[in-house]
Amino acid sequence: MTQNSQDNHLGRSPSVLFPKACLAGRAHNTVCKAIVDGTLVRPTECEQCYIECKPDGHHPDYTKPLEVIWLCNKCHKKAHAEEWAEDRRRRKALLRH
Ligand SMILES: [Zn+2]
Ligand SMILES: [Zn+2]
Repeated sequence: MTQNSQDNHLGRSPSVLFPKACLAGRAHNTVCKAIVDGTLVRPTECEQCYIECKPDGHHPDYTKPLEVIWLCNKCHKKAHAEEWAEDRRRRKALLRH
């Protein structure tokens, strides 16, 4: 057993191929820092279903990293599923033209 290729896949970032993912990562980073320095306060419940939890900061617009909606796991997944559906719809509409 050798240990030399352990970090093989960490070298190249997929964000070059997916600029949206890159923006998302940066936005997430900004939120993390803002929570630490008190600019943003994480509520104790989901903004959509009001369930008590440690909600995730969801970005409706990644170019506005400090504009977040606080969502529980379930609502967050749903928000992204809707985002993807919207993306697909837009792409289909483009193809039709
Ligand atoms: Zn929720
Ligand atoms: Zn999100």
